[in-house]
Amino acid sequence: MHADLVIAGGGMVGATLARACLMAGLRVALVEARPPREDAGAGPYGLRVSAITPGVETVLRTLGVWEGVVARRACAYRRMEVWDALGGGRIRFDAVEVTEPRLGHIVENDVLVAALHERLEGCARFCPDTVREVEWRNRCVRVTLASGQTVDTALLVAADGARSQIRERAGIAFEHRPFHQHAVVGPMRMAHHHNACARQRFLPDGPLALLPLPGNWVSIVWTTTPEEAATLVDLPEAAFAARLEAASEGVLGAVETVGPRAAFPLVGGRAARYVRHRLALVGDAAHVVHPLAGQGVNLGILDAATLAECIAGRPDPGRLSALRRYERARRGDVEATLRLMEAFRHVFGSRLGPVARLRSLGLDWTDAVTPLKRRIARLAMDLDGERPRLARGLPLGARRA
Ligand SMILES: Cc1cc2nc3c(=O)[nH]c(=O)nc-3n(C[C@H](O)[C@H](O)[C@H](O)COP(=O)(O)OP(=O)(O)OC[C@H]3O[C@@H](n4cnc5c(N)ncnc54)[C@H](O)[C@@H]3O)c2cc1C
Repeated sequence: MHADLVIAGGGMVGATLARACLMAGLRVALVEARPPREDAGAGPYGLRVSAITPGVETVLRTLGVWEGVVARRACAYRRMEVWDALGGGRIRFDAVEVTEPRLGHIVENDVLVAALHERLEGCARFCPDTVREVEWRNRCVRVTLASGQTVDTALLVAADGARSQIRERAGIAFEHRPFHQHAVVGPMRMAHHHNACARQRFLPDGPLALLPLPGNWVSIVWTTTPEEAATLVDLPEAAFAARLEAASEGVLGAVETVGPRAAFPLVGGRAARYVRHRLALVGDAAHVVHPLAGQGVNLGILDAATLAECIAGRPDPGRLSALRRYERARRGDVEATLRLMEAFRHVFGSRLGPVARLRSLGLDWTDAVTPLKRRIARLAMDLDGERPRLARGLPLGARRA
């Protein structure tokens, strides 16, 4: 069969790209190894969640996907509080200060994937399936799947995550940044309601985030050393609950229900390039950021929105000129975020007394300067700066004949 583009990887980013390109009239084939969870949002909370910014919410609304997210399960948060365990500094954000109804939503990854896949009408969906072979030709790419089917396409997109095989096959170098940290994640029911506030406490070994879910539940992202993460995952529930209550300074009281826990190694990095002839990388296949500011999937969805905009309406979506436009539009934003996360990690990772005092002063000072705080918040919410059309609520160009 023929397609305008084949997307390898139908996670949050690949499926967003598929939906955007379908709406722009392109013929899309999507290859995904794992079928979406059918009961996403109905059963127990998933292990992995993402903080979705209002800018990315607009992308998903414009694509007609957001309704499916909120109909399943999502939790809006209106406030955010970040504080430093060593120096004592604190910064608070409130949606009122940025004249927005909310700062963002916490969405289970499975919920977003299910809502996206539900809207892939007209897509040639190969799921479960994987890419077995890629043959680069002059006018097309021939993609052979593990199931034996063959698709000829003008453009192959790698949306297959941080360990992208497509990126590797294409010989694109990836600069790995090992963080030597793991994140313990999982849903927990607390004694006190979170009051729609996302909280993050910087501990000496890494940040502990308490992300609001419906009811008294929060999803934790507890970044720490690999050894400590293994211990935390293996602890009996009561001992884990006591450790979590202490690490969160009891801000939400005792841990009443310990949900399933798992630890993930944290790695960072960036691809040397995002495009080459008839190939584009999006999401974690192109760049992996530390989760401390919850930006990874937001960056990836903005990649998808930008790439769709650059190729929509083009007779040949695989042309290098269109793909370069995508890379130019995204690299600056992504590099700025990567550098900022690195700086945060170093400053907040230091146990030196003077550094701890200075960073706490910085937090307190920024907290007091409302215009600066508002500027930081709006940028982090993807409401300002260069944004693709979909993030401004504008649909892509007209369908091709
Ligand atoms: C602990 C933790 C917390 C995080 N919290 C946040 C947060 O709050 N906010 C945020 O924005 N980001 C967060 N992130 C980052 C976020 O999870 C990633 O940026 C995001 O998952 C990237 O999406 P993706 O679609 O590019 O890749 P992935 O989510 O990795 O999806 C890749 C998809 O490709 C499929 N696939 C892989 N190989 C193949 C193959 N060969 N053939 C077919 N299919 C294949 C996989 O099955 C998968 O569905 C967090 C990350 C971690 C580790």
